[in-house]
Amino acid sequence: MKTLTHWIDGKHQKGNSSYYSEVYNPATGEIQAKVPLGSEEDVDAAVTAAKKALPEWSETPPLTRARVMFKYKELIEKHADEIASIITAEHGKVISDAHGSLTRGLEVVEFACGIPQLLKGEFTENVGKEIDAWTFRQPVGVCAGITPFNFPAMVPMWMYPVSIACGNTFVLKPSEKDPSCALRLAELAKDAGLPDGVLNVVNGDKVAVDKILTHPDISAVSFVGSTPIAEYIYSTAANNRKRVQALGGAKNHLVVMPDADIELAADALMGAAYGSAGERCMAISVAVAVGSAGDKLVDILRPRVEALKIGPGTDINMDMGPLITEQHLKKVKGYVDIGVDEGADLIVDGRNYSLQGYEKGFFMGGCLFDNVKTNMRIYQEEIFGPVLSVVREPDFNSAVKIINEHQLGNGVSIFTREGDAAREFYNKIEVGMVGINVPIPVPMAFHSFGGWKNSLFGDLHVHGPEGVRFYTKQKAITSRWPTGIRSGAEYTMPTLK
Ligand code: NAD
Repeated sequence: MKTLTHWIDGKHQKGNSSYYSEVYNPATGEIQAKVPLGSEEDVDAAVTAAKKALPEWSETPPLTRARVMFKYKELIEKHADEIASIITAEHGKVISDAHGSLTRGLEVVEFACGIPQLLKGEFTENVGKEIDAWTFRQPVGVCAGITPFNFPAMVPMWMYPVSIACGNTFVLKPSEKDPSCALRLAELAKDAGLPDGVLNVVNGDKVAVDKILTHPDISAVSFVGSTPIAEYIYSTAANNRKRVQALGGAKNHLVVMPDADIELAADALMGAAYGSAGERCMAISVAVAVGSAGDKLVDILRPRVEALKIGPGTDINMDMGPLITEQHLKKVKGYVDIGVDEGADLIVDGRNYSLQGYEKGFFMGGCLFDNVKTNMRIYQEEIFGPVLSVVREPDFNSAVKIINEHQLGNGVSIFTREGDAAREFYNKIEVGMVGINVPIPVPMAFHSFGGWKNSLFGDLHVHGPEGVRFYTKQKAITSRWPTGIRSGAEYTMPTLK
């Protein structure tokens, strides 16, 4: 069994903690590694390295920083198979899906290659007579990222490439459930020419996180994970005077209008609900069938959910792999029990799924509920597994109403052929990311990603232009070069005459 490390100041380091967590192979249920749970001293060592690297890195010309990003992009492409295998081995998702998620992270590195253009400021000549003014953006300092298990490459890559390209240094605390990917990405960053200390990885749990949230030398914290932890991160880090963006959980709806191409909507729902075993923050977990769409939709979905190919992620023929841990598997199955008790119709029951040769793996089959009501826990709470709930609503307005009343507002989608319905939908809906005939509306790297309501605490979304704003602070300069005229002291507010 492998013993993992931290990555501090450009080197693997054991750290001084005697606590470890187990990293499973979710397909077999076996423990494949143990990961150190970093102590306060380990976080401190990483922050010290990041602080030491900051002056030189922040003074490095943006074009030079961009060139490191170009090299990094090349190296990630070269090692894509290896990184995807690490993702599948620890997370369990199907290898093609692991590749896809890595590509979406790589696109943020590509975006960061354009940092010289992104950091350009604004200039006004003659804001007053012979007075010029301009603004520009400077790095915020040492930044930290705390990331979830479900995208061990992509979510960290939403954060540190932009932060580093902006001239900051970074401490990443990845999920303790699948930490190897972050360590490999940090090694490759060094190979790309990133100076030691600019990117550090501290493995750990709440102890390490709490040290990050209170550390006086950390200026900004990015978090992605579940809503209760996001709220905690936001309030604690903000109380400690840090800039915070904390992305939380999701309950994403897909509205199927009666005029929609129902086959197309069903295809979209299958991929969006069951891909990655539903462990995606942009997974669709609620289908809102409007009017007559419901019966047809459920009829099409039922055999497809029953026919899902479920097995180890290393098998490219699979539609979905196992869940992340046994504990999570129990939680998801527990929600299915709750749904049955609450009176929803369980149309497809995947609770007893077992795979020959992988009996100890964390597998379950796809589950499909019909006639789910909005007061049920399976509707209100995030399940984060392969469970799709169909809610039936009489019309467009009631569909919009239930979505707007939900406490989470990460992503949403509508399937319709009517332009006016689509337009009204994206105008009225209180959700951060909206798809029109698109199942998973994840914005590209050069836009920004983030939800509304309890899916995001903080003001700015991640990556894209909002990411650059988050990782930089604006400075405004007003400048005059006096030409010898002295007008004496002025005691009133200067205004333009
Ligand atoms: P999680 O909230 O359990 O953990 C996220 C991170 O917080 C991990 O690094 C973990 O070590 C740390 N953490 C956990 N408990 C903590 C505590 N009590 N104090 C301090 N730190 C703590 O989330 P997860 O189970 O790893 O990931 C799944 C969740 O992430 C889902 O809710 C999913 O919707 C969400 N997610 C959201 C987005 C988004 O963009 N909004 C993206 C991906 C995942």
